[in-house]
Amino acid sequence: MYISAFPDGGRWLRGNLHAHTTLSDGTVPPGEQAADYRAMGYDFLSVTDHNTMNRLRELNREDFLILPGWERDIPYGKFKCLHVVGQFAADYPLDTFSRPKGNPDAMSMQDLLDEMNGDNVFITLAHPVWSRMEPEEVRALQGYHAIEVFNTGTERLCHAGRADLLWDMLLREKRKVYAVACDDTHGKTEESDRFGGWVMVKADALTAESVLRALTAGHFYATQGPEIHSFVIEDGRVTVDCSPCEEVHLVTWPPRGKSVYSTDGHSLTHVECPLKGGETYVRAECVDAVGHTAWSQPIWLE
Ligand SMILES: [Zn+2]
Ligand SMILES: [Zn+2]
Repeated sequence: MYISAFPDGGRWLRGNLHAHTTLSDGTVPPGEQAADYRAMGYDFLSVTDHNTMNRLRELNREDFLILPGWERDIPYGKFKCLHVVGQFAADYPLDTFSRPKGNPDAMSMQDLLDEMNGDNVFITLAHPVWSRMEPEEVRALQGYHAIEVFNTGTERLCHAGRADLLWDMLLREKRKVYAVACDDTHGKTEESDRFGGWVMVKADALTAESVLRALTAGHFYATQGPEIHSFVIEDGRVTVDCSPCEEVHLVTWPPRGKSVYSTDGHSLTHVECPLKGGETYVRAECVDAVGHTAWSQPIWLE
């Protein structure tokens, strides 16, 4: 048995799947936002303004892509809400997706997801901890491809940007949900919410269709900095190749996985571990010397 998390072909593309601009409540205009991300080495940016979808084709460059997207929401009481981020193919008609804010009296959380779902769509449950979603609310929703395992903006705002516990809860229940790291960009100061978390996507080309295809196939990882070069299961052994890291954690279930640490100042770049048997999924977290993490997608084992 040989399972690789990434395809052999294609190229790595760096992208932020969650960003606001002056088209909603962000402080940076779309053109400046795109230019800043491009200057930081990003290949694509999804501008996901609140309840409005904008294609922004004029900001595309030969080496930079705007992936059309938006964020939608339903408030639930004073402190609880649901926010969902979606990316769409470049040729989606805008009027299909320019609908007003979800109304909790008229629309359930599942209605909102159902309305956004469709072909060539990638849907992410945004910052569930900041939204103060209960585990049973996260569990009850169907039809999202990913959960934000790390959201820079809500983490820096009030330490509410991490969701690995909720993600593993879903994975233990055999849900096929991927992890995304993103910025949820609103501002532009040094302590702001830019360039803190992103995805590395292995795609055929820098087009919206290729990136969406790679995302929905799970051909990507989430990161705050470390790189995952390969993640493979072969003949009952897990192999992870990464940029120099101090910790590599293999998270599994029902057996409880294993953590590996650097020794004697030798960082880890290659980790091999036998499976214990009976795992339904295996995922890797690689942590570097400054505490930044990269999250692989799970490899599911039947
Ligand atoms: Zn949000
Ligand atoms: Zn947002």
